[in-house]
Amino acid sequence: MTPLLDAVVVGGGPVGSFAALNLARLGAKVTVFEEHAEIGVPSHCAGHLSIRSLRSLGLYPLSGKIVENTFAQANFYSPTGTELSVHLARPVTCAVNRALFDGYLAETAEAAGVRYRLSSRVRSLLTENGFVKGVSVEQKDKREDILAKIVVDAEGISSRLLKQTGLSAFNRGGLVYAVEAEIENVKDVASDAVEVFMGKNYAPGFYGWLIPRLDGTAKVGLATRTGNPKEFLQRLMLKHPVASKQLGKARIMRMAFHSISLGGSIARAYADGFLAVGDVASQVKPTTGGGVVFGLTCARIAAEVASEAIRRGDVSSNYLGLYQKRCKEALGFDVNVMLRMRKFLNALSDEQLDAALRFCAQIGVDKALGDVEEIDFQGQTLLTVLKKPAMWAALAYFLTLYLTAHS
Ligand SMILES: Cc1cc2nc3c(=O)[nH]c(=O)nc-3n(C[C@H](O)[C@H](O)[C@H](O)COP(=O)(O)OP(=O)(O)OC[C@H]3O[C@@H](n4cnc5c(N)ncnc54)[C@H](O)[C@@H]3O)c2cc1C
Repeated sequence: MTPLLDAVVVGGGPVGSFAALNLARLGAKVTVFEEHAEIGVPSHCAGHLSIRSLRSLGLYPLSGKIVENTFAQANFYSPTGTELSVHLARPVTCAVNRALFDGYLAETAEAAGVRYRLSSRVRSLLTENGFVKGVSVEQKDKREDILAKIVVDAEGISSRLLKQTGLSAFNRGGLVYAVEAEIENVKDVASDAVEVFMGKNYAPGFYGWLIPRLDGTAKVGLATRTGNPKEFLQRLMLKHPVASKQLGKARIMRMAFHSISLGGSIARAYADGFLAVGDVASQVKPTTGGGVVFGLTCARIAAEVASEAIRRGDVSSNYLGLYQKRCKEALGFDVNVMLRMRKFLNALSDEQLDAALRFCAQIGVDKALGDVEEIDFQGQTLLTVLKKPAMWAALAYFLTLYLTAHS
């Protein structure tokens, strides 16, 4: 049977919608299947994004409703409360309301001709001799087979469909377990500053964050490699020397739990008739766990490669390998640098972290970082800031720590 659709996109998260939008703009007939009844709900994400990256994806400025706040300052704390405060010349990041952001992407995609089917769960891939030919969808107990020339898998971290192709999912060694909470009654927080709480005592293998909104509420969360994230969050809010002053009397209004894959992009995100994008392909920053910008970047590449594949009548993995190659060109260097940074941060003891933050403040690393604008492509940022003398001293300090930790 000839497929009626050029592409099926599984998942109406930001990455699925952006892939669908770009495919539609390139002339493809696309349907997105989303298992939930509403796009963007439930949300599990802090929505902290780089303004520069959003702009380069054609997504900034955004409406004032979607953008909850913008930030020109970041304060980093050790577990004992030592602080390194970086003030930037202008706002470099923003916090978006993820439900509204996802909704906006879906509306834009719909306006470009994409069809959305909500409350529709893709149960399995349809394959013929290993070649993906479409999806089997369940909606209100009704099953339907949908044929498409290509399936774009943007199912998020669950990776159920990815595994059906025989592709390997992300490395579980890089997994952290996160909690994201919305809180009210926050004290002593600058409204344009993001607070970052580092160290094993409060967030082993990751960090905690506090992202204020302009209305006095905030998003707070953390991730951890081991243990219960909710218990770590309670400890952070009640015991951390700085966070407890800001959050000790706060009230949690909503909490969500989700995992983040920090192990770098999966080795192969394509198969015959199939592309994987976003969290399912672990297109996530290993340092911060941010996956929106990397996912959107790869979604655009996926749409370009898929649309050309459809035009050529060759959606085989032979041609679709171009997707992996182009994603690697776009992200590979930065992901490799960030993987090393994450490994290094994880190896530091809380005492070493405390001493490192104190040393950085003394030698003026905060000032050296004052004109940073790029926070996603951190390998490139590192190359830029390393031109500054304060950063040479910091590099020498960290190299010594690194060599000590690995000797
Ligand atoms: C606590 C936390 C905080 C975070 N904070 C940030 C941040 O500040 N900045 C940042 O950049 N990133 C952040 N992230 C990461 C970010 O949330 C993800 O990288 C991003 O949501 C990935 O988008 P996606 O579209 O690939 O997947 P998702 O957003 O997970 O979307 C996948 C969609 O697919 C749907 N779906 C799944 N399976 C099926 C199926 N079989 N059929 C139909 N639909 C299906 C799901 O319902 C969902 O809507 C955070 C993550 C966590 C856990």
